[in-house]
Amino acid sequence: MGAFHLTKMSLKNLGKSSTKMYPVKPPTYTSRSKGLVENNIDTCIFCKICEKRCPTYAIQVDKEDRTWSIDIFSCIQCQNCIRQCPKNCLNMNPQHPGPSAEKVIKVVIGPDKPAEDGDKPNKAANQDAANAEAGEL
Ligand code: SF4
Ligand code: SF4
Repeated sequence: MGAFHLTKMSLKNLGKSSTKMYPVKPPTYTSRSKGLVENNIDTCIFCKICEKRCPTYAIQVDKEDRTWSIDIFSCIQCQNCIRQCPKNCLNMNPQHPGPSAEKVIKVVIGPDKPAEDGDKPNKAANQDAANAEAGEL
């Protein structure tokens, strides 16, 4: 009986492909796919909770420079940072950026802090301005 079912199933699937022609055919992502953690930086308050709760130390937050960065190959897509963020500014992009032989750090720079007396200058923005002047951007 088992052999009959096996033969029937084999004949039914004869000629059908069980694998996808990646990368010729692009992969399909579902809402549950896990790829890359992204930050809606306009909402981020640089509280560092995501950095502290990341089990693989993939996230770095610099409040002074107003930068949020992620080492994308250290991230294990556990989504702990997304769950713990008090501003709900982190989300999981289902599409992974793809393989690389190099370490890839994605840096997101936040908007300038509202000016207050005694504020320190935004080092990242100043560095961008200096690079632009030097023609490096
Ligand atoms: S936990 Fe959220 S608000 Fe806090 S630094 Fe991380 S991304 Fe920004
Ligand atoms: S998903 Fe998990 S491993 Fe990836 S950055 Fe967030 S806390 Fe870290």
